[in-house]
Amino acid sequence: MANKSKSIPNKLQQAFNVEDFRTTAHEIIDVLCKHLKKAQNNTVKIFDYVEPEEEHQFWLNNFEKKEKITDVFQQILDRSINVQHPHYIGHQVSAPALVSALGGLMSNILSNGSAVYEMGKANTALEKVICDWLSKAIGYKNGGGFLTSGGTLANLTALLAARRHYKTEDVWKDGHRKSLAIMVSNQAHYCVDRAARIMGLGEKGIIKLDVDEQFKVKTSLLEKALKQAEASGFTVIALVGSACTTATGSFDDLEAMASFAKANNLWFHVDGAHGGPSALSKKYKHLVKGIDLADSVVIDFHKMMLTPSLTTALLFKNEAQSFNTFQQKAAYLWNDATANEWHQAGKRTFECTKLMMAPKIYFIIKAFGVEVFEQNIDDLYNLAKELAREIKANPKFELLMMPECNIVNFRYVATEKDLNKINQNIRQALVKAGEFYIVQSTVDQKIYLRCTVMNPLTTAATFTHLLKHIEELVFKYEL
Ligand SMILES: *Cc1c(COP(=O)(O)O)cnc(C)c1O
Repeated sequence: MANKSKSIPNKLQQAFNVEDFRTTAHEIIDVLCKHLKKAQNNTVKIFDYVEPEEEHQFWLNNFEKKEKITDVFQQILDRSINVQHPHYIGHQVSAPALVSALGGLMSNILSNGSAVYEMGKANTALEKVICDWLSKAIGYKNGGGFLTSGGTLANLTALLAARRHYKTEDVWKDGHRKSLAIMVSNQAHYCVDRAARIMGLGEKGIIKLDVDEQFKVKTSLLEKALKQAEASGFTVIALVGSACTTATGSFDDLEAMASFAKANNLWFHVDGAHGGPSALSKKYKHLVKGIDLADSVVIDFHKMMLTPSLTTALLFKNEAQSFNTFQQKAAYLWNDATANEWHQAGKRTFECTKLMMAPKIYFIIKAFGVEVFEQNIDDLYNLAKELAREIKANPKFELLMMPECNIVNFRYVATEKDLNKINQNIRQALVKAGEFYIVQSTVDQKIYLRCTVMNPLTTAATFTHLLKHIEELVFKYEL
């Protein structure tokens, strides 16, 4: 054996040298913590924006240069957006609880692929415990599901399950015979539209439902939309509710939609990627009333549940249905393709090899208990209401509407100039200044500045600074 190890090329031996790893890892943790402290204390920018070509050139120039890993680590920190910064109030990505990152480290060292039980024993069982807990928490009695790589993939998987459930046609086996369709809010996340197109439904197979002034599906129009689709030769297989919509954070009336779906024998799917965890909050669970009536629900842990990207749960009211989506023979993986084995994860997931996600969630629960998720929801939703009040009190700004959750849209209006243009320019100026990170959205052809409060270290004072900063930018650049 000793001789054999000598024949391994030197570099490969080094790649597995535990002492080298220990030294580098300790150094890196120090670099990382220094960076985190700076971010938390707002003594470092959110990011230094540079144009894509310049960024590309930087990495191209460095690609084969000899550098210390700790230096490279610092470079990446310095050149990345900092979601741990309390001034990060942009896209819907959580500021991960720090302990969960250690789950990521474990995941990457163990690299348990988890398509089959043997390749992820602890991870697979933990995943079941977590999904069973979340199922109960949203009100399912016999629910269950699995973790998968993001809300986009989870929504596609749920719609594939819906199609599979549709009894008079087996698209999985025979391909399309009829024109199938789904019904979904015209405010839904684009990935639902994309999923339907991937499934071959085409543009006409995506029936976009009108919304009211709060951007919620007008449930009084469901009947008419369904009749119209059927009259045009479509067989509608699923109704999709948003909890909440991405642009405005509006929660559809899930209860009304569920009862319509039931009466018309449609699969009811809830895209709760962002707002699904509202169910965990006593104060805010009314927003997702009826979520327990959905056949399937998507919840992103990496949005409102303090977990790093990507970690998503796809839950089914009747867990048995989660096994029907992909029935496939893979003799090298499973002996029996038709048995409903929870422990053979790949039977239910789109992925074959899958990231080991459960430890990232489990570490949070071990460290702080499941109550931490409720606290996070309450804290972030309450903070967003403070931001909204601040905007409302400032005549230079216009609030789109009082937020139901932690998504707030507003625009600068103290000008005679074109409001769309000026708000777009404000967003650009904000990005370049690098002191805050917010995004923008277009609602009814109007451009809004959009904040999603994602970091519990953000405070009411942050919002005062933000509005002041915007006014200064308008003045400084004569926007
Ligand atoms: C974020 C989001 C998605 C997409 O989820 P990813 O995890 O980014 O793939 C889908 N639907 C809604 C409502 C979302 O907010």
